[in-house]
Amino acid sequence: MRLRNPGGIGATGSFDLLMPPTCWLTGIPLAQHDVAVSSSIRDELAVQIQAPYCHRCGANRTRGAGHCPLCPQRRLGTAEIIRVGEYTHPLKELIAKFKFGRHWALAPLLATQMLEAWERSGQPRVDVLVPIPLHWWREFGRGFNQSRELARFLARRMGKPFADGLVRRKRTPRQSLAGSANQRRENLRGAIASKPLDWSGQHVWLVDDVCTTGSTLHAAAMAFAALPQEYQPERISAMVLAVTGMERNSSTS
Ligand SMILES: [Zn+2]
Repeated sequence: MRLRNPGGIGATGSFDLLMPPTCWLTGIPLAQHDVAVSSSIRDELAVQIQAPYCHRCGANRTRGAGHCPLCPQRRLGTAEIIRVGEYTHPLKELIAKFKFGRHWALAPLLATQMLEAWERSGQPRVDVLVPIPLHWWREFGRGFNQSRELARFLARRMGKPFADGLVRRKRTPRQSLAGSANQRRENLRGAIASKPLDWSGQHVWLVDDVCTTGSTLHAAAMAFAALPQEYQPERISAMVLAVTGMERNSSTS
């Protein structure tokens, strides 16, 4: 089988699949110090990380603005959210390549962006990182859980524990097909459960790739709330790559 360079230029063999010599998005040759994407894409990511946003719902906001009008529309069930940026270029394309294209080389790049967003937020306390689970059938089809890969990498870089402590109890429609925020929340009611673990005293960080209406994060937070009180975490927060507007999007789950 002929190997093809997913970066688009300069395909020479299997090594290129792991270390493409060209940018994953632009296709231009990478400088020697660049990894996965060109410096121009990294600059765009840096701009996104620096953009002000609401730490309760993740929505964009003007620096210094007061009350966030979008919080009531996106109830996450978490104490706070840290994000890299909006679900727009270049994050949108990078996530699509990572999630649906199975381009593993992007996991460290994307997780590093999350780490930088966490550092920029003042490095709030992290006790354990917990990925949003996929239903086993969807994970079987996709080949991996992108949130687990991100959480695993973050845990390693932070020197914190990683816990695959949540499970999907039922298969739900793809969030992109699920309609309104209320419908999404209804679809996910009881769909996520915590394993019988003692989370007491822990500041848990849920890790996901994209937050749309927040219904998935909300369902995960409610999974902890369903545990006996003495086993519930002290605090639940969320760390994601991207937050969308409230519009439906075809590439989210
Ligand atoms: Zn808000």
